[in-house]
Amino acid sequence: MTETNTYDYGIIGSGPAGLTAAIIAAKQGFSVILFEKDELGGVCLNKGAIPTKTILNTVETYSKIKNSQDIGIEVNDIKLNLPKLIERENEVIKTIKSRFEKEIDEHNITFIQKEAKLIDEHTIECYGNTYKFSKIIAATGSTPKSFRGIDFDHKFILNSEDLLNINEIPQKVLIIGAGAEGIEWARIFNAMGTEVTIAEKTSRLLHSADIEISRELEKIFKEQGIKTYLSTDLESIKDKKAKLTNGEILNPDFVLITIGRHVTRFSNDNNNITYLGDAYGSLMLATFAMYQARALVSDIVFDNVFVPSVVYGTPEIAWIGANEQDLPNGSYQKVVYPLSLLAKANCDRETIGFVKVLTYKDYIIGAHIIGKEASALIHEFAIAMQNNIKISELKKVCFAHPTYSEAVYESILNLQ
Ligand SMILES: Cc1cc2nc3c(=O)[nH]c(=O)nc-3n(C[C@H](O)[C@H](O)[C@H](O)COP(=O)(O)OP(=O)(O)OC[C@H]3O[C@@H](n4cnc5c(N)ncnc54)[C@H](O)[C@@H]3O)c2cc1C
Repeated sequence: MTETNTYDYGIIGSGPAGLTAAIIAAKQGFSVILFEKDELGGVCLNKGAIPTKTILNTVETYSKIKNSQDIGIEVNDIKLNLPKLIERENEVIKTIKSRFEKEIDEHNITFIQKEAKLIDEHTIECYGNTYKFSKIIAATGSTPKSFRGIDFDHKFILNSEDLLNINEIPQKVLIIGAGAEGIEWARIFNAMGTEVTIAEKTSRLLHSADIEISRELEKIFKEQGIKTYLSTDLESIKDKKAKLTNGEILNPDFVLITIGRHVTRFSNDNNNITYLGDAYGSLMLATFAMYQARALVSDIVFDNVFVPSVVYGTPEIAWIGANEQDLPNGSYQKVVYPLSLLAKANCDRETIGFVKVLTYKDYIIGAHIIGKEASALIHEFAIAMQNNIKISELKKVCFAHPTYSEAVYESILNLQ
């Protein structure tokens, strides 16, 4: 069968990028067909941000309760129930997915859960049907990168998708790659009580962060007992043993490879197709994907500078704008406010970390937070930066006491 109608938008991929673009376009009255070959919600909902954050929440709550004697809680018999954790993870995915299904329905988006083939810049073929569009958007996402020459066997050499239905607490794991994904999994296993080693080929953890954040995190990992090898790569894997470039030979339960992702693109796109999200090939974050999609189909001006990055776990890490190491000497001012000075952090026993602000004249050009609530606090800086709000104006804002937001205020107060 061949469709002869021409639709406004043909969107391939229903992850954060494709779904956001579809909903906004449909809200504006455009006709939209959304194609998805796998599960609605893409990697983010089914294999990425949402399942990992749900796992992290359980294992960190477990670890916190286990270590709560010094805040006046005596606990004797505490156990991690992995089947229950997986059940909850699937429940969270299901809840969010049903909200997405409702939105698709409400906005009259045609959802076709099959693989789409790109024919040309106006035509998609899907299971024998041909569809015509004024505009095609490919939000086709990405897939995990394997280590050169070493394929995933999904038993000993794993990617994060292999861990979403974990049914046993591993004794020892080796993680290759200390970007956001590697850091979050290191924290998950550490909270479970697993012996964690992480190897990173650059000279620091979280290479894309501000250098002081990396250094603080390295200190925290040491205190938490996470073994870190920097400037160290995986050399080979043989007989369930992993050899690192520093000569160490480890025998973990498995090796988790988190060294980045490959973009998924059509080989015949002739450069006339708009790619969004991970498939665009820039920041591989749902945050970026949704912002970019909103900008494409509405009148928001897209600006890479204002995309916050967040790494979850204890303590959270978040940043926006310039990193100090990228700024020329003498071109900026900086202030670092330690959370140990903050009343609320002392009440909560959350005094690790700091808020660091980089400024030029009366404006914030970069903000870096490591500590409790960093994922929320970063947006105070995002709002100020996006709207060019002067530091002298921010100083007039009244902040509630005691709160973590006061760390933002205190750091700003310390600026000349
Ligand atoms: C473990 C992990 C944790 C993460 N945590 C975070 C986080 O905390 N915060 C954050 O911002 N980001 C996080 N990310 C990144 C985030 O998941 C991705 O950046 C995001 O999913 C990208 O969205 P997307 O829409 O571009 O692509 P995807 O979510 O990858 O969706 C693409 C979709 O396109 C479909 N598709 C591809 N080709 C076709 C075709 N030919 N026909 C039909 N359908 C097709 C795929 O099946 C897929 O569902 C995490 C990623 C991982 C792996």
